Amino acid sequence: MSVDVAAYTSLKKELEAKGATLVAVSKTKPLEDIRELYDLGQRDFGENYVQELVEKQAQLPADIRWHFIGHLQSNKVKYIAPFVHLIHGVDSEKLLREVSKGAQKAGRSIDVLLQVHIAREETKFGFDAAELDALLEQPETTALPALRLRGLMGMASFSPDPALVRSEFKSLAELFRKGAARFPHFDTLSMGMSADYRIALEEGSTLVRVGSLLFGSRN
Ligand SMILES: *Cc1c(COP(=O)(O)O)cnc(C)c1O
Repeated sequence: MSVDVAAYTSLKKELEAKGATLVAVSKTKPLEDIRELYDLGQRDFGENYVQELVEKQAQLPADIRWHFIGHLQSNKVKYIAPFVHLIHGVDSEKLLREVSKGAQKAGRSIDVLLQVHIAREETKFGFDAAELDALLEQPETTALPALRLRGLMGMASFSPDPALVRSEFKSLAELFRKGAARFPHFDTLSMGMSADYRIALEEGSTLVRVGSLLFGSRN
């Protein structure tokens, strides 16, 4: 077992003081580690591979809220649609439509966040600010059936420069506030990971996705 109980306890306190949600990112980690945090009261867990998520979900308590935080391919929506709590990384209109279809087939409604590209790195997925604006202007996409747009998600540059990270989070928070003023369900800003969650909270994050700080580093 490699869960850092002390780190978990102090992080929970820190987040409670800010009213922010902790998603414990359990990708690559064994079921025992998830159970250990579950027994401490943790209910929100994040995974970024569909198959791994589906396997874990089947073997763990039904009241876990599973967050899909990875890059989701349209053809895999159906595997997680019956149970997923929140899909963080919706980064295309096509995927938005697929999630809507999958939710309808599963007979439920699904909450999603739109992923915004805020980092300098080329490899990160997501809409840029102009694309996001354009998307949010289209009633036919924002009003898709069985889909609720809950907010935005983004990842800052992997950089040792806190000023750069802060400025990227600031720009995402600004876009979030604009969205929140227009959409009734827009209440979730998913930003911050082990290395930068404090800066993210200072800039208005409502949900952090923390893995290695709790579970140890991944191979
Ligand atoms: C892995 C991952 C995290 C957690 O990263 P840590 O640095 O281990 O806290 C958060 N968000 C996403 C999208 C991830 O893929």
